[in-house]
Amino acid sequence: MEIIDVETAVLGSAVDAASLPAQVGDRELDISSVVVRVHTDEGITGLGESFYRSKENNMFLAKSIDAMSRHIIGKDPEDVKAIWHELYLHVKRAGAYGALSAIDEALWDIKGKEVGKPVYQLLGGQTNEVKAYATFPVDKTAEELIDYASWLSDKGFQAMKIGAGYGIKEDRHRIKTIMDNIPDDFGLAIDANTSYSYNDAAKVAKTASEYEVEWFEEPISHTDLEGQAELNRKFTVPISGYQTHTPHYPALDHLKAKSLDIYQPSVDYVGGITGAMRVAGLVEAFDKEMVPHALGPAINYAASLHVAAASRQCRLIEFAVLDDDLEDPGTYISGPYIENRDAIHVEDGGTIDPPEGPGLGVTIDEDIFEESRVD
Ligand SMILES: [Mg+2]
Repeated sequence: MEIIDVETAVLGSAVDAASLPAQVGDRELDISSVVVRVHTDEGITGLGESFYRSKENNMFLAKSIDAMSRHIIGKDPEDVKAIWHELYLHVKRAGAYGALSAIDEALWDIKGKEVGKPVYQLLGGQTNEVKAYATFPVDKTAEELIDYASWLSDKGFQAMKIGAGYGIKEDRHRIKTIMDNIPDDFGLAIDANTSYSYNDAAKVAKTASEYEVEWFEEPISHTDLEGQAELNRKFTVPISGYQTHTPHYPALDHLKAKSLDIYQPSVDYVGGITGAMRVAGLVEAFDKEMVPHALGPAINYAASLHVAAASRQCRLIEFAVLDDDLEDPGTYISGPYIENRDAIHVEDGGTIDPPEGPGLGVTIDEDIFEESRVD
């Protein structure tokens, strides 16, 4: 059987809204709903329903279902668990937390523009010099990565991160080959994006520790705190993560479990600047490090730079080098709709500062912005 179509409908409430006291003041709650109809090629239609207790919230819910539905068209509806897991991977990185984060960034932008100051000043001012580490060369062999590292090193980058999770043998080969051949003062980090089991991750962590790899990012599932804590305790390579945590509360559990040495919140789904600064406060209380997960796009990247500058335990941030033909790998090439992209730039020596203009410090080129739209 195959899923051929997914339809959503937002329905009004059959009962009057009741006003209930809540943390955010009285809320009008009704029983309006979103119905989903999943159609199959065998003529069977599945019905599902959820609700956020107001028509407006339900419009958001319906849009989320519409957006997620493209992942299930063509799939066998009998594979419920496999589909659940695929959707979960998308939902945990986007959806409502993405909305919360984007709106939060815009509110800080307003606050800064209102008083004519950059956001990092409103967050308490610059605490440290922040350096950029380069990420994420793909489709390169270990041998090619040696040249790549010296190109970055010449520019002033002091570290780069590569993918891991290619299997124990290949990961070990890459670590050894690169670490034996890159400049002494240039660091290598590896990121398995949660792809390993504990036992396999332990084997890679052993090699990473021997070769003094900077950190081993997301070695195993984000839910396995005990496994992370075990890796962190047994091996000297710092364990880092998790870019999918939402909002700041998971950081506290990880800090108490000593499961991570480096925290990597994503400003784009941890709950924006407010959420990321709360992670920063917790991480500071436990004297760990924060290295924000930050892969463009431009407005969000600017927000991430303000967070990094204002966080005492943050001295490093991710910087995407997306083209190895550039003369200067510190050039920011994502976000053509930002007219002052030059305000985001890795300086010689590897430092990166937030834009100095008011608010987030980025301005939109309206023509390119309109051309870039796909909605
Ligand atoms: Mg990562």
